[in-house]
Amino acid sequence: MEKDRKRVVILGGGVAGSVVARSLQFHARVTLVDSKEYFEIPWANLRSMVEPSFAERTLINHRDYLTNADIVTSEAVNITETEVLTADGRRIGYDYLVIATGRADSVPKTRSERLNQFNEENRKIKSARSILIIGGGPTGVELAGEIAVDFPDKKVILVHKGSRLLEFIGAKAGHKALKWLKSKNVVVKLDQRVNLNGFTDGQKIYRTSIGETIEADCHFLCMGKPLSTAWLKETVLENDLDSQGRIKVDEKLRVNGRGNIFAIGDITNIPEIKQGFLAQQQAEVVVNNLKVIIHGARECKMETYKPHSAIAIVSLGRKEAVAQLPFWTITGRIPGFIKSGDLFVGRTRRQMGLSYDIVKA
Ligand SMILES: Cc1cc2nc3c(=O)[nH]c(=O)nc-3n(C[C@H](O)[C@H](O)[C@H](O)COP(=O)(O)OP(=O)(O)OC[C@H]3O[C@@H](n4cnc5c(N)ncnc54)[C@H](O)[C@@H]3O)c2cc1C
Repeated sequence: MEKDRKRVVILGGGVAGSVVARSLQFHARVTLVDSKEYFEIPWANLRSMVEPSFAERTLINHRDYLTNADIVTSEAVNITETEVLTADGRRIGYDYLVIATGRADSVPKTRSERLNQFNEENRKIKSARSILIIGGGPTGVELAGEIAVDFPDKKVILVHKGSRLLEFIGAKAGHKALKWLKSKNVVVKLDQRVNLNGFTDGQKIYRTSIGETIEADCHFLCMGKPLSTAWLKETVLENDLDSQGRIKVDEKLRVNGRGNIFAIGDITNIPEIKQGFLAQQQAEVVVNNLKVIIHGARECKMETYKPHSAIAIVSLGRKEAVAQLPFWTITGRIPGFIKSGDLFVGRTRRQMGLSYDIVKA
């Protein structure tokens, strides 16, 4: 009977949380709590800025893949041993909790508002002759690549505070990305910050920390987003966060010492680089482990998650990419063939039980 089924509450409907919600919806009473009504593929957002129609396939309403779960569109703001509290005042009881709140990002609540936002950003790019990108991590590099390939006549300037690009992976990948961007006439300025204090809309002169001035028609902030765990600091999990605000988990992905709370994705302290495909693998481990507990099997049937070596592909426009593999770092069309054409969108849609493309009625 429905009321006898265990209640599994998942916080965050991103890359990791959506997998758990979808996989468990017929095994438990599942509630997904997400601050927005839709799932989005984060690494496809840069393409959606240069080609807004791309987002039609990458923004997926939670209801489209969750046919047998409750969906609560609100932020989780507190948890107790038995309940989740949301910003809109709801109290949601749980038997098992999965925290997958990833990165704190203020994006619109509805899919249509998010589509409008991409259209707006696209207009901004199209109407500018020169564009300043602030930040040389994966977001800044991928956006610079998208604009340089789709709008080769625009002047693109990328400013990064560090001494090299792509600091989340090895130096070779950063150097190769720099070489590629330069070959596309992107001006890259390292070791300086753009001063945005007192910056007003319509202003076109930017000043940097070393006194340089840069002229650009518009700018995009591409800095890494903080983890969405600050809200846990005054909860029962306050002692389960490390000094960087990451949730400490054991090898079964349970929050240390707790039998019924799991954490997955970018927010954990697992010693590996934060990647969506790893977040999905962690989600699969939690799905298995929750099924083991829910169906009363022995704990030895639970799966263990092992950290992975640093593999990453950063796309450089539509056909090329730079890839860091275990013993090799390459740029060009081979890694581009893997990621840059469709940005894993078709694959992600299929994993969610959806068609590769949108089927129009
Ligand atoms: C430019 C770029 C390129 C990338 N390329 C790749 C790639 O090629 N391959 C790859 O595997 N990974 C890639 N990544 C990394 C990948 O996007 C992340 O590792 C992945 O999204 C992490 O998944 P997550 O579920 O932990 O968090 P997210 O996907 O960020 O999801 C978090 C969810 O939680 C929600 N949320 C946050 N706070 C709350 C709250 N308090 N209450 C309720 N809901 C909340 C958010 O709305 C969101 O839906 C890339 C990232 C970037 C920025």
